[in-house]
Amino acid sequence: MTNNIRNFCIIAHIDHGKSTLADRFLEYTGTVSKRDMKAQLLDSMDLERERGITIKLTPVRMVYKISKSKLQMSNQIQNPNDKKQNGLEIGNSEYILNLIDTPGHVDFNYEVSRSLAAVEGAILLVDATQGVQAQTIGNLYLALEQNLTIIPVINKIDMPIANVEKTRAEIIHLLGCKPEDIILASAKTGQGVPEILQAVVERIPAPKDTAAEKPRALIFDSEYNNYKGVVASVRMVDGELKKGDKIYLMGTQTPAEILELGHYTPKFVATEKLGNGEIGYVVTGLKEVRDCRVGDTITYKNDVTPYPPLKKGGHGEPPLFKDGEGGSQIQPLPGYKEVKPMVYAGIFPKEGSAYESLREAIDRLKLSDASLVYEPENSMALGFGFRCGFLGLLHLDIFKERLLREHGIEIIITVPSVAYKVIAKKEELTVHSPQEMPDPSHIVGTREPWMTLDIITPKAYVGNIMALISERKGRYINTEYLSADADQRAMLHYEIPLASLITDFYDKLKTVTSGYGSMNYEFKNYEDTDIVKLDILVADEPVEALSTLVWRDEAFKAGKRIVESLKGSLPRQQFALKIQAAIGGKIIAADRLSALRKDVTAKLYGGDVTRKMKLLNKQKKGKKKMMAMAKGKVDIPTEAYLSVLKR
Ligand code: GDP
Ligand code: MG
Repeated sequence: MTNNIRNFCIIAHIDHGKSTLADRFLEYTGTVSKRDMKAQLLDSMDLERERGITIKLTPVRMVYKISKSKLQMSNQIQNPNDKKQNGLEIGNSEYILNLIDTPGHVDFNYEVSRSLAAVEGAILLVDATQGVQAQTIGNLYLALEQNLTIIPVINKIDMPIANVEKTRAEIIHLLGCKPEDIILASAKTGQGVPEILQAVVERIPAPKDTAAEKPRALIFDSEYNNYKGVVASVRMVDGELKKGDKIYLMGTQTPAEILELGHYTPKFVATEKLGNGEIGYVVTGLKEVRDCRVGDTITYKNDVTPYPPLKKGGHGEPPLFKDGEGGSQIQPLPGYKEVKPMVYAGIFPKEGSAYESLREAIDRLKLSDASLVYEPENSMALGFGFRCGFLGLLHLDIFKERLLREHGIEIIITVPSVAYKVIAKKEELTVHSPQEMPDPSHIVGTREPWMTLDIITPKAYVGNIMALISERKGRYINTEYLSADADQRAMLHYEIPLASLITDFYDKLKTVTSGYGSMNYEFKNYEDTDIVKLDILVADEPVEALSTLVWRDEAFKAGKRIVESLKGSLPRQQFALKIQAAIGGKIIAADRLSALRKDVTAKLYGGDVTRKMKLLNKQKKGKKKMMAMAKGKVDIPTEAYLSVLKR
């Protein structure tokens, strides 16, 4: 029976109060005692708590009691005989509420979309002091794609600057709902919380009852636990799973055995089975999350006969699987895809001696982070390190902080780059670093990733934003308005190269909109572009570690900037130092760092001019000789590299 189960999540723009509202739910339902309560309880990583952002979603199961007379449900039939379920007493008016708190940041959009696929409804939370923001809409669209029931809630109504009317108008404009559908709340004071929970029971449908079917569980999260190994968070879509079941992960084609399963409260609570329609965890005995991917389907091992293995990368149509006994087929649940890193950067230990510990630390992080990719990289300048791929800049930041906190390793990160596609004479290559760029004479064309970009802003800043976008090579698509009132805000739609977003775009947007602008973006496609490798030469020698990939029409500007920056950070030598930027051997920018001049004439103050000239000439000759000697051996200090390379 799934009548008493409600599975839901909260979707919101960052900081609109998801985690705080979840805290109130835990308190109100008595899931966590007042004594154990701490703010943002579901944000389990220290990092999340400190930064106030949700990175990993933590599911929680709550038992919610409500007097039957209070409920206004037309379509829910309660079964008074259904007293026991999953070892829990379920009365007429007791409900199991499974809440998934989702990450609000676009880097983790794929995780958001998987958790949305695991539930029937979503609370759309909007901060009354901010109104609808870019990720409110981004997440709402993801939820509508999954056909979820939406419960609109206006939060932070306790704040003096709350603008409930305006926020309400925006939500109605967005959803086409009635004013009375919207619940007013304060996650801080708890106002509105009982009404929200009641609406969850009344408005969100119970899971479909498919208890008799062969089990299919959707993995919507997987993490590496030091004691249990790989733990999958799952939604039982069909059937049930029991401890000891021999299971099979369809996408990665990995057999496993259920060592333990149960619910989250949010701690692990082991049970004997995971019932139909429920949300819980499965301990798989697997060693790496790579084998237990978000979006994959768990079923019985004996029931599938896999077709030939997936192609490398795991994309395309999922293969069909046959039921071993009956000949019927078990289809994987839709949505399995391998997330591809979008942003690449070189990672080097600050202390060269820390390379081994860095390698071990990255190996460990990889256990719990399937979207992280890396390979060794060796740089003349920075020594041994790794080229790493990330979902986005936030992912990169989190990686950096986890290395520091969990492993005590400080790293240097080189300027991030996107993955370009390079059409060379014979083949198409994916290029993530300047070193992988083929010789210019072999390049037929280049392509780069483009994103759709949505920005929400008060109308006054539209001009500033247009200027920023055109400076960053974006293109304007159209404008929508968030409501019909006079001082309405606008949602601007653009398309823009990802490379333009991964530098300091977000900071710039905040600056030109006095902090009011919000943005959301999504991968669109690869488009033709003109990318060149910009080489840097010091004393006529190319310095490989300083090359970058740039747009051809910006190469001149970039070259000038790097040359200038090097001039300011390189130490003077005994001879004048040539610093140049070049594309395919053609110099496009150059400067000269004058020589350190030993004052050989100091002793001759006011003295004989001919003697002075003689000495100076001698010095010049000596310099020429030194120059010849030093050619290609200019010792570039790490600081000079960092002035150019560091993000
Ligand atoms: P999340 O990013 O959506 O998870 O947002 P959080 O729950 O972390 O909340 C962001 C900030 O808003 C925190 O400082 C909360 O204390 C605060 N906050 C959340 N809800 C309310 C509310 O209803 N009223 C007030 N005054 N502050 C709130
Ligand atoms: Mg949060």
